[in-house]
Amino acid sequence: MTATTDHAQLLLPTVDGADFPGELPDFPVINPAHGEVLAHAPSVSDRQLDVVFGSAERAYQDWRIDEPSRRAALRSAADALEAARDELVPILTAEQGKPLQDAGLEIDFSALWLRYFADLEMPREVVFDDDSRYAVIVRRPLGVVAAITPWNFPISLAMWKIAPALRAGNTVVLKPSPYTPLTTLAMGRVLRNVLPAGVLNVISGPDPLGAAMTAHPIPRKVSFTGSTATGKSVAQSAALDLKRVTLELGGNDPAVVLADIDVDSVADKLFWSAFGNNGQICVAVKRIYAHESVHDNLVEALAERARTARVGDGTQPGVQLGPLNNKKQLDIVSGLVGDALGAGARAVVGGRLIEGPGYFFQPTILDQITDGARIVDEEQFGPALPIVRFSDVREVVSRANASHYGLTASVWSADVEHAAAVAEQLDAGSVSVNAHAAAVVQDLPFGGHKWSGIGVENGPWGLHEYTAIQVIHTPPRGERPEGSA
Ligand code: NAD
Repeated sequence: MTATTDHAQLLLPTVDGADFPGELPDFPVINPAHGEVLAHAPSVSDRQLDVVFGSAERAYQDWRIDEPSRRAALRSAADALEAARDELVPILTAEQGKPLQDAGLEIDFSALWLRYFADLEMPREVVFDDDSRYAVIVRRPLGVVAAITPWNFPISLAMWKIAPALRAGNTVVLKPSPYTPLTTLAMGRVLRNVLPAGVLNVISGPDPLGAAMTAHPIPRKVSFTGSTATGKSVAQSAALDLKRVTLELGGNDPAVVLADIDVDSVADKLFWSAFGNNGQICVAVKRIYAHESVHDNLVEALAERARTARVGDGTQPGVQLGPLNNKKQLDIVSGLVGDALGAGARAVVGGRLIEGPGYFFQPTILDQITDGARIVDEEQFGPALPIVRFSDVREVVSRANASHYGLTASVWSADVEHAAAVAEQLDAGSVSVNAHAAAVVQDLPFGGHKWSGIGVENGPWGLHEYTAIQVIHTPPRGERPEGSA
């Protein structure tokens, strides 16, 4: 994609199954590999939200009723998304920065999520069926869902919300990050061909549009993925109207590497668990605690991989790590690394911005650093990894847990039983052994402890968060008149 305002015509919001009516002002979207304006996206205003949410509210009346049609529509949506893969992938790389092949995987996973939820049964649960009573639990949709997403995985994180919300019978208004609105708008246009009008509405606009969505009276639930700071604002706003929330927030995910590990066999996995998507993954390894007996070897093994990783424009063949998505995030990473180096840490490799256009930072491994350094204690969300030494397992558990965050964690050891026992002591929503974030899949619950969130996404547990329990209580079946069910 080249910089042009034509995209404003191509990528209009989808409301009520069609382009949003009327002229909209626009805002620039930057290509992070070049640092230049890529396109202009339309800006929906707070006042226009009545039209947007009104569309979702009208569509809800029919959509909630016919479960087989909903499931069929989600399957058609998966097919449509896959058919649009070649159209969506270059837009995603251009606005997000990730390599083309990673952008392709994001679309593939999104289709998988749609199919998974289309196929997922939502059985009624008969709790009592005896001589005294018959009681069944029914899961009813909530109504309109306001879905708000961040810039690191605009499509797949949107699908984590859209697929279960629609499957359960809700309708959705989705707003992507203003850093990455284009692919989501394009996806909205693709999916409106297979979903009834108003079921999925996709809008864009700079903040405070997100805050206006959470304050709007129509949505009954806010499903939010983003930073902890914004998540707290969302929770406050939703509380005023008792809207349900699911909050998937920040993390400072530790990997604990025990003394008996074979460094060579895990170095690749550990490196990519920290540096995938250029470190811009909520569940990326953000700090490694390495036992003193393996620490030096591990530092060298990871540094070697950081030295040879290919960084560049995600459209170029062979590139493994793209730019940071935006200048603000580049400044955060740069500031945290600078702070660590100023306090005596050693950059075994990297440590600096990459000169030239775009928001590039050298893949960085930091040594001679410990808890208390900001890059160990805070979420860096970028390609810089501190490796901290430890000697005692009990002590490392309390150091790993000394964080407001609790998203994911991992334990690495030749002794899986022992590692699993250590895993259970860590404050995190999911902990993997000899892998990191292995449980972040469509059919297991994913959510953070402490400041990393409220509620879960994925699997039947995630589906249930888009429903309200209703108990239907009737006289016992034996007492019903002849011929009734
Ligand atoms: P962010 O909180 O700045 O923005 C997220 C979204 O919220 C954007 O769409 C933004 O426009 C919107 N927003 C901003 N202010 C708002 C408000 N007051 N009310 C409602 N919406 C508002 O986050 P970001 O910088 O886009 O994303 C990076 C953060 O997201 C990191 O902290 C990362 O860990 C987190 N994240 C978490 C998960 C997870 O599943 N736990 C996944 C991906 C990213």
